[in-house]
Amino acid sequence: MTKEKKSSKTEDEYIAKEEAEKIKRLQDKLKEEAEAKQRAEIQAACYMKCPKCGGELEEIMFRGIKIDRCTSCDGVWLDEGELEKLAGSDDANIVGGILGFFKSEG
Ligand SMILES: [Zn+2]
Repeated sequence: MTKEKKSSKTEDEYIAKEEAEKIKRLQDKLKEEAEAKQRAEIQAACYMKCPKCGGELEEIMFRGIKIDRCTSCDGVWLDEGELEKLAGSDDANIVGGILGFFKSEG
């Protein structure tokens, strides 16, 4: 759209265009808010729930690192960086031992 075209529009057309843009911005904002609300609801529903069985997770201390354990299936879930912390601890064989265990299966 060029400036020539804009200046040739009547005031009513200009106002209508402004209104349409205002409505579109409002719709976009409402859409964003609805999406953010949905994300928050999903997060709230999943927070501290086992991804495997949906059971409640409890935080336990394991070698100085707080990890989440399922009270239902006893699955253990690590947050970002926690596996590295475990691997990098004095007992570096924890992760190595686990990996070795899987390797020895083959
Ligand atoms: Zn579970």
